[in-house]
Amino acid sequence: MAGIYIHIPFCHQRCSYCDFHFSTLLKHKEKVIDALLTEIEVRKNELSAPIETIYFGGGTPSVLSEKELATLLDFIFKFYDCSQVKEITFEANPEDLSMAYLKMLKKNGINRISIGTQSFVDEELRLMNRKHSAKQGISVIKNIQDAGFENFTADIIYGINKNYKKNLAENIKVLQSLQIPHFSAYALTIEEKTLLNKKVKTGEFSILPDDAYEYCFNTLHAFAQENDFLHYELSNYAKPGFKSLHNSNYWHNKPYLGFGPSAHSFDGKNIRRWNVANNHLYVKNIQKNTPYFEQEILTVENLFNEYLMTKLRTIEGIDFKYLSKNFPNKYSTRILEQIKLLNASWYNLNENRLNLTPKGWLISDFILKKLFI
Ligand code: SF4
Repeated sequence: MAGIYIHIPFCHQRCSYCDFHFSTLLKHKEKVIDALLTEIEVRKNELSAPIETIYFGGGTPSVLSEKELATLLDFIFKFYDCSQVKEITFEANPEDLSMAYLKMLKKNGINRISIGTQSFVDEELRLMNRKHSAKQGISVIKNIQDAGFENFTADIIYGINKNYKKNLAENIKVLQSLQIPHFSAYALTIEEKTLLNKKVKTGEFSILPDDAYEYCFNTLHAFAQENDFLHYELSNYAKPGFKSLHNSNYWHNKPYLGFGPSAHSFDGKNIRRWNVANNHLYVKNIQKNTPYFEQEILTVENLFNEYLMTKLRTIEGIDFKYLSKNFPNKYSTRILEQIKLLNASWYNLNENRLNLTPKGWLISDFILKKLFI
């Protein structure tokens, strides 16, 4: 089984923490969608496996009109084997999700919505330069439920400012009261080319100390445990039956095609490729039939390190049987030697598997560095 990702590289405005690829020049949307349709068609022979999941990400897919969404889906269904599709996820911002838009998504086959709520506290939304209010975020979730979507997820960013404890408590209260089946929670990170980074440099914005993020992570983990959420990946929490299939397939190394500027693809074996992260160049090169992507062939070491990086962030962890089938034995031996040098409260180890505890997840970058080849 395989996946398809479609990157919609447009947003209404720039969020202060964001370094994803997008443009606010929506007047170029039509040209980019034409190029996307061409890419979907020309790559039709790249996948032999049937498609299981389709994911519209961005940017902001909810800038698409019904006609644009329906045409993109028509092309995907026309050129790929979609007879076994189980999940079609659509990322959307709260301000775009009117009841009419939600009904349109449902009519076109979307069965999972990922809402960019980020917070249910106005103070935090303002600091992140989000366009919507906390009230809008809450009412849109009710609309999603009223429109008949059972499967949806909300994003939360924590550790924004000195009020992080009070604000996290408010966010948790809303997650609980709205009976959300899945949420993703990320620590605020300050990326180089962001508005927040400029503010950090001028002293207008302060980064919290590490123990603030630790507090938030532990509080969310405890909330998950007490409320029947499975904390199944470092940043992801699901009620039974609501894990993200698309992302889980990434973590299981299944093949996927990524369409659109900056989208990544993986052949399920050892080739990874990525499209140019520039709307103008993407359109121009697709039109001229000149290369619009780069690719790399992953070495055994690359594949091993990627396996560790993805699997140690999941609750399943590393499977030693998989390692012995796919990598030289010395790699497993090295993991066993290295992990035993680390604090035993950071991991669980038995003869079949190694996974990290929540304490280990908090310092997973440090642990991974110790285990990488
Ligand atoms: S966070 Fe999402 S909505 Fe905000 S600028 Fe980035 S891609 Fe656009």
